[in-house]
Amino acid sequence: MDQLIIGSHVSYGSKDGLMGSLEEALSYGANTFMFYTGAPQNTTRGPIDEKTTQKAKAKMLELGLDIKEVIIHAPYIVNLANDQDHEKYSFAINFLKQELQRAAKLGIEKVVLHPGSHVGLGTKTGISNIIKGLNEILDTPDGPIICLETMAGKGTEIGRTFEELAAIIKGIKEQKRIMVCLDTCHINDAGYDLKNFDHVLAEFDHIIGLDKLACVHVNDSKNACGAHKDRHANIGFGTIGFDNLLKVIYHEKLKEVPKILETPYVSVTEESKDRTYPPYKQEIAMIKAQKFNANLIEQIRNYHK
Ligand code: FE
Ligand code: FE
Ligand code: ZN
Repeated sequence: MDQLIIGSHVSYGSKDGLMGSLEEALSYGANTFMFYTGAPQNTTRGPIDEKTTQKAKAKMLELGLDIKEVIIHAPYIVNLANDQDHEKYSFAINFLKQELQRAAKLGIEKVVLHPGSHVGLGTKTGISNIIKGLNEILDTPDGPIICLETMAGKGTEIGRTFEELAAIIKGIKEQKRIMVCLDTCHINDAGYDLKNFDHVLAEFDHIIGLDKLACVHVNDSKNACGAHKDRHANIGFGTIGFDNLLKVIYHEKLKEVPKILETPYVSVTEESKDRTYPPYKQEIAMIKAQKFNANLIEQIRNYHK
């Protein structure tokens, strides 16, 4: 495929299921998307609805979109890095096993996971806990792939360097089922300078391997390189900047890798009440035009007035 594969985070409702997510993505001019199978901050999950799944798949086929480019994000509260609370740790393992079953049922191949936070156990122990957990989860040679996300290094987060992710990957028995999701805001905050993305990508290739790159989260950052903060900014409105992000999005070596926006909603005050609106339609249009629009946020506000 020579076309840019781009989408954003979208919602997934119990009523409209995958069809609702697809319709939201299409309204943004996207050709792929990413969603949480429920709320990102909790682990309450309902069954996958067959009817809306089939409907969405038929629609995608009709439009020439590939379900294999669609991505699930696991909830960010599951933590495989700390096993001190045995109940919590085995809950995380069981939850992720079920999450992979849900992905399989939807026909989705890639599930993004935050590696976890060691919360005082140290990086080495944290990494070995993640490996132990993942090997229990990935217990068959085939099935959906876990994509470990590069992290900003906030608190005791693991995955703040390519070396940490490589160490995890090395410990996984089912190599086919482990890949990486590169988040531009996170790597900036972790200390990788996106002004020289070719250099960053060469380092990624050397330490992890480009063949392991499954997905890119395209976000600008509110903080300086190396700040270890993790606060996303709208495309072109952060410290990474539009041109540096475009280089990632249109990189020759990343043509086949889906790009997903997780930029913040734009807040609008209406009758003294704050409402927020997704920026994705306008950001995707700006990316496709390859020209920075300094009035983008204003235009999003006006669009919803
Ligand atoms: Fe994430
Ligand atoms: Fe991300
Ligand atoms: Zn983030």
